[in-house]
Order: sequence, then C-alpha cells, then structure tokens
Amino acid sequence: MCARMLALMFELIHQSKKSMARVGRIHTPHGVIDTPGFVAVGTNGTLKALDNETVVQAGLQLMFCNTYHLMLQPGTEVVKQAGGLHKFIKRDKPIITDSGGFQVFSLAYGGVASELKSQGTKKTGGSVLKIDEEGVEFRSYRDGSKIKLTAETSVQAQKDLGADIIIPFDELPPYHIKKEALIESLERTHRWEKRSLDYHLKNPNNQAMYAVVHGGVDEELRRQSAKFADGLPFDGFAIGGSLGKTKDQLFEVLEYTTKHLDPSRPRHLLGIGDLYSIQESVKWGLDTFDSSYPTRSARHGVVLTSQGTVNFTLGKQKTNFNPIDPECSCHTCRNYTIAYLHHLFKAKEATVLTLASLHNLTRMVKVMADLRESILRDEI
Ligand SMILES: [Zn+2]
Repeated sequence: MCARMLALMFELIHQSKKSMARVGRIHTPHGVIDTPGFVAVGTNGTLKALDNETVVQAGLQLMFCNTYHLMLQPGTEVVKQAGGLHKFIKRDKPIITDSGGFQVFSLAYGGVASELKSQGTKKTGGSVLKIDEEGVEFRSYRDGSKIKLTAETSVQAQKDLGADIIIPFDELPPYHIKKEALIESLERTHRWEKRSLDYHLKNPNNQAMYAVVHGGVDEELRRQSAKFADGLPFDGFAIGGSLGKTKDQLFEVLEYTTKHLDPSRPRHLLGIGDLYSIQESVKWGLDTFDSSYPTRSARHGVVLTSQGTVNFTLGKQKTNFNPIDPECSCHTCRNYTIAYLHHLFKAKEATVLTLASLHNLTRMVKVMADLRESILRDEI
C-alpha cells in the first residue's frame, strides 16, 4: 500500500439492504461532500449566471471545472499565479477538474452526442493536429497557438489549478468504433492513466486522483478497465467513455462495471445528471454525478419542482402568481412568482437566468438529500 497521506477519505455511512445504493461522505481538504451528491458544472470557474458565493449558499458541495477551457482562457499559469483555482474563483469548497481529454477528443471525433445523430460519420480534423502515443496536439481556438496535451501536461495543468480531485488523461473514442479499435484505444488510455498517476504521485500536492473507467458498452472491456483501475492506488473511480445510446444501456454498463470496483473508494459518473439517471444509478453504488442539466434547463425556461418540471415560458404562465415550488426555500421561490419569471424571460432580462438557475440548483441539492434519506431507510 502507498504510504502517502491521503488527500481524500471516503466514509461509508450506510449500505442499503435493498440495492448497492449507499450513503457516504467524501472528506477533502476543502470540506465534505455528502453522497450520493450532485456535482454542478462550472466550466470556466463559475456556474452560468450564478456567482460562487450563491452556489455555496444553495448547498452545492462539489463543483466541476474544465481544464481544457481554463488552459485556453485565462491559462493555468495565470490561475497558478493567482494562488490556485480556489483562491482565483473565491470558492473554499471542493472542486474537481477533468483532464481536458474529453473536449479535445470531442473536437477530433465530433462529440458523442453529435456523432450519434450523424450515424457515425467521422468528423476528422477540426483543430486537432495529431494524436499519437505521446498525446494530442491541437490548435487553440482562441489564438491559434499549438498546444500539446499529454498525460504529464494535463496533470501539470491540474496541479496548477489545484482542484481537490483530478482526472488522469484518457482518450474518448468515438461511439461507432470497431472492437479492435476500441481495444487499442482502451490500452492506450490505460497507459496514459498510469503515466498520469505516476506523474501525480511525484507531487500529490494534497490532491486526489480518480481513475477513468472506459470500455464502451462492451462488458469484457469494461471489466478489464475496472480491474485495471482497481489495481492501482487511485483515490476513486470515474465511469466515463461511451455509456450507450439508451438509459437501459447505461444501467447495464454500470451493473457490469461497478461489481469489479473496490467499494471502499468513491465512484463518480461522468456527464450524466438528469434526475431519472441519477435515481437509477445510485442503485449501482454511484456516489457523485456531474451535469449541467439543471442550469442549462433553467436557461431554457424549464424549472424542476417536487411535482415535475414547469416551463415558465409558456403563455399560460403569464398570470401564474405562484412561486415555482411552494416547498422550495430558495431565494427565488421565497420572493418571486412564475409570472414574473415569465415576464423577465419575454423581456430578455438576464436576471431570469440567475433566478431560474438558483432555483434548479437548490432543487438538485434537495433531490440528492431526499435520495440519501431514502437510502438510509433502505427504500432504494
Ligand atoms: Zn426555489
């Protein structure tokens, strides 16, 4: 076992008698994350339309920032000079960053979602110049400069940012890929992840690193990847890569992946955070979920309530003088009506984005607290 001081500790509070669902607590240098927990995406060091103090008041415990975007603007060197990401964005709660690989490979392959729509027509080129064993070379969309992202440069960038939890460099293969190519990609990802871990362990910097488990929707490859991650001293696991076209496929992937993972380490599900997926995924012992779903929905006029979703942009809401959710204690629900939000939206006032996003974030935090209560009562 490694002798280093752990930057992260996972405390299991309750294991459900009904499923693999569990309630726990992740201890980090910037505080506790109650699990199952929702992780909001603050790509550039902020959630869209919400400042970092508001986000803490809403109860958000873990925020996900994107290394790729921060590398290009303002540059991880600038963040380092500012004293690290926590100081720069004035957030004293836990932060997780990714490797940048997801965004770079989305440039190369067109992204998983758009690829599914285009039936696998491979979009090559873009701003990616070269992919080889060393890493990926791409051109900055901001100033045209060449950037090389490798296991070492990605981890170094994440050292400069200083998040509590960091992610090793990995390849995101396209969804439509032959099995031989998927195997090759998986093996390369494992080599990159090992290199990332070795580089991280030279200077742990009070940070924890989660492995990314890949393998697409192939049961055997998922098993191999889970075993690989489980065998190394990663602090936790993030389940990534292609998670299938349907929710049922996602749950199958989770079922056959999680059984190979050490239960004493936390598990994160990358990029999936709609309510239904979260409620089902906790049954497989998933602990944290990142998604821009609540803030993105809010910007489109959709708010989450205990009775389902409400679209406040619809004409019938023009004279709805009730709060979004009478059971919600957020600033928006305590002070404003749906009719007012409807009016702000129609008048294109930016305030509506803040009010609706704040409510949806508060709602997600409440949904997770309710889920934890249900697991504690062995109802899930
Ligand atoms: Zn509210």
